[in-house]
Amino acid sequence: MPANRFAWPETATWPPIPVEAFPATLASLMDTAGPVWFWCLDIDGTLVEIAPTPDAIRVPPTLLADLADLAGSPRHRVALVTGRSLDDARPRFPLPPAVAMVGSHGAEWLLDGVRATDPRTQPARAALVRTADRFRQLSREFPGTVFEDKRYSLSLHYRSLDPDREPGLKAAVEESVQDEPAISLLASKKCWDARIAGGPTKADGIARLLRTHPDPPRLLIFGDDLTDENAFLAFPQALTVRVGPGVSAARFRLPDPPAVRELVAAMAHLAVR
Ligand SMILES: [Mg+2]
Repeated sequence: MPANRFAWPETATWPPIPVEAFPATLASLMDTAGPVWFWCLDIDGTLVEIAPTPDAIRVPPTLLADLADLAGSPRHRVALVTGRSLDDARPRFPLPPAVAMVGSHGAEWLLDGVRATDPRTQPARAALVRTADRFRQLSREFPGTVFEDKRYSLSLHYRSLDPDREPGLKAAVEESVQDEPAISLLASKKCWDARIAGGPTKADGIARLLRTHPDPPRLLIFGDDLTDENAFLAFPQALTVRVGPGVSAARFRLPDPPAVRELVAAMAHLAVR
């Protein structure tokens, strides 16, 4: 893979490893006897390019094959860690049960083919249903927005909204949850997320997967957005990789999803060698 596709993080806390040596460094570490590698990979903006609507993402078949190869190696565990619900993400990523999944920003997970839900989601159910009604209404009032009910969180995407209307949408979204203490708002990439206040996070989901390991694995976390930054900060020992621009707590940076896929492909190739 071309070495010059890998760039320095803006805020590096990792001992300097030459950027061009990033994949090679991973490879050399992988060859040593040691902890299992545990790959936690966000989906949108990390493994695949962000699409105009959540339904429009394209998942390359080669990516599925590489993830399955990596997860099939005794040296590796693989988990997809996404804001999408499991119901949404699973059919888009038809992968063997060895690939774990954390969905809805940590509210639900799939481990060895068994699904489970964080108990903190239950008390907030009624507030989420009320907020979903309001977001649905807003999606009609603001053409170009797309409402997505992820059951444990809600998203109002506005990638195609007239930019002049963005302040109006912001005000309306804030008003829609002002009397809902169980709900907190999160501004992510061209999207308003309504989530359970103090509820599960991607870091919680990753922690839950790690509990199934008798020995602490070597953790790698890849992400492109605020919810991933939370996970970067929660696991200071992890090898963390921010995808794309922006200030980050991650140790490394990759420019875009194709670079992540190249890295996954290279590692999968080494794993099955
Ligand atoms: Mg993302």
